[in-house]
Amino acid sequence: MKNNVFTAADAEAHLRAGKSIKDLPKGIILTPSAKDLFRAGPTSLTAHTSTPAAAFAEPILPDYEFNWKPGSDPKSDAEIQAFFHSPAIVELKERMVDIGKRMWAREYTDGNGGNLTIRVGDNLVLCTPTLVSKGFMTVEQMCLVDLEGKQLAGKFKRTSECMTHLAIMKRQPKAKACCHAHPPHGTAFAVAGVQPPTCMIPEAEVFLGQIGLAEYRTPGSPANAEVVGNAAVDHMAVLMVNHGVITWGKDIEDAYWKMENVESYCKTVWVASQLNGGKLLTITGGQAKELIELRKTLGMDDKRSTWTECQLCDNAGFQPGTVCNIGDGKASANQSQTALDPEAERLVQVLTEQILTAMK
Ligand SMILES: [Zn+2]
Repeated sequence: MKNNVFTAADAEAHLRAGKSIKDLPKGIILTPSAKDLFRAGPTSLTAHTSTPAAAFAEPILPDYEFNWKPGSDPKSDAEIQAFFHSPAIVELKERMVDIGKRMWAREYTDGNGGNLTIRVGDNLVLCTPTLVSKGFMTVEQMCLVDLEGKQLAGKFKRTSECMTHLAIMKRQPKAKACCHAHPPHGTAFAVAGVQPPTCMIPEAEVFLGQIGLAEYRTPGSPANAEVVGNAAVDHMAVLMVNHGVITWGKDIEDAYWKMENVESYCKTVWVASQLNGGKLLTITGGQAKELIELRKTLGMDDKRSTWTECQLCDNAGFQPGTVCNIGDGKASANQSQTALDPEAERLVQVLTEQILTAMK
């Protein structure tokens, strides 16, 4: 310190010594940067003085995927218990509790509805308990089951709906976590039996792909596991008719984000359909193709990668008039069913002619 002027370097040394601005002698003049440092406080010092090596470290990409060595599942009761209470598994349980709170706060679940699962081994899956509000779960309530749904650990009884999650994991190895909830807008589409249209919002194309639709079966039943498991092979988000929404991802955060994506997308499409006479704008098939390519670079498959540009944005089921009439027009059962086969078209023509003749 020179001539009673207190510089940033002086302030830093002062803060590092555990002192505050109150400890300064009277009559001191603070430079502007010294004032800034005092305002930011001692917690700012680490970043302020970080070494060049730390500054150039590889940027972090958040990743919550749980990886295990194939064939390494714990076998004995004692091994399973030790695994179930290990730090890595407790961390996942904490994440499930946290996501439960987020689902409940966003009104995606009501009563004891909704459930979460995370695959943690060849034949091991963490799951949420039955009859507990997703907003008020604790780490101690989480359960461990095998892929057949047999409970292996946990004081609380596992949810019956885990059977649907397990059916998805068995059919689609990339599904390492599932999230099920009853968000109002997504569930409304499921109750109306309306498959959400495509080509309306780019992020939905990239992160969700096409949203699937699975016929109604009794929740928790083997029949429900069958239809939803089959639909989820090609769709990371599935609307369960007259029930709710189920999503999967590489980790539980990923699966939950897809739930948010579905709900937000369905809400937006619903609101937009009240505007402009219900005539919604879409991106072009070519633009959709670019998004599907982007989706693939992020490691997500898309069954639509072989579809023609015209087929990609065929939303005839949702918005009449957008039907794809070019090419073979029958790439998928999800596509428009308005294109008649030649036999039926000929029949319509014959009948029309007969009616016209009779009228004459
Ligand atoms: Zn449900």
